[in-house]
Amino acid sequence: MSVLELDDVTYAYGEQTVVEDVSMDVEPGEFLGLVGPNGSGKTTLLKLMLGLLRPDRGSVTLFGRPAHEFADGTRVGYVSQGATGGTAGMPVTVREVVTMGRYPHVGLGRFGKRDTDRVDEALATVGVADLAGRRFSTLSGGQQQRVVIARALAADAELLALDEPTVGVDAESREAFYDLLRELNRDGLTVLLVEHDIGVVTAFASRVACINRRLFFHGDALDFSESDALRRAYGANQQLLDHHHH
Ligand code: ADP
Repeated sequence: MSVLELDDVTYAYGEQTVVEDVSMDVEPGEFLGLVGPNGSGKTTLLKLMLGLLRPDRGSVTLFGRPAHEFADGTRVGYVSQGATGGTAGMPVTVREVVTMGRYPHVGLGRFGKRDTDRVDEALATVGVADLAGRRFSTLSGGQQQRVVIARALAADAELLALDEPTVGVDAESREAFYDLLRELNRDGLTVLLVEHDIGVVTAFASRVACINRRLFFHGDALDFSESDALRRAYGANQQLLDHHHH
């Protein structure tokens, strides 16, 4: 079964259609890079995929269910743009943020050693164990993103979606961050990465989806490098403009 299935998905903000007739799937264990020019609908498509927006036409199926009905917060981790996980202003420690990922598993039960171990493991995996006692809001952007990922790992998420996670992160930390994503993906986590840096995507993703409102390419990352999809997608706005002038 696919993790995600999009079938002829169309979405508009008012009169402005920003996603049009997009069909694609995401298979378990894949690393999908979502690329396209600024304002091409990447963030909107990601939100549609995660059920945070509901398509005007078409359907999105997440783990076999309509995405907008998807309520199981444990299976999907989402690192939104400039992500601080909604905890930016809260006086919580790094450990507390990651522990939140565990709550859905505990339910009304007791938070046990197994849960504490899972939190420790998640902190270590993303390399922030030494920051566990720090206030989350005092961390750098890059560190905060790692903590948000640790929270998803503590939740045993199967799908990790990230929206331009390294904006504002220095080059060295960026490299380390993508290495981490690659490792998590190798361990079986399905990764969805919205990224403007095409080089990063072709280096780390197994498949690429290139959009500019419509889907210009969906397939193997190597084939993408050799295709003219990028040029066509980035030229599409210009063509639309030309069209209006004639
Ligand atoms: P990308 O992530 O590729 O930069 P977005 O999905 O953020 O693209 O935006 C696609 C288009 O939709 C842009 O023209 C943007 O201005 C518009 N848009 C995004 N969010 C909203 C919103 N909440 N209301 C109205 N228009 C929006």
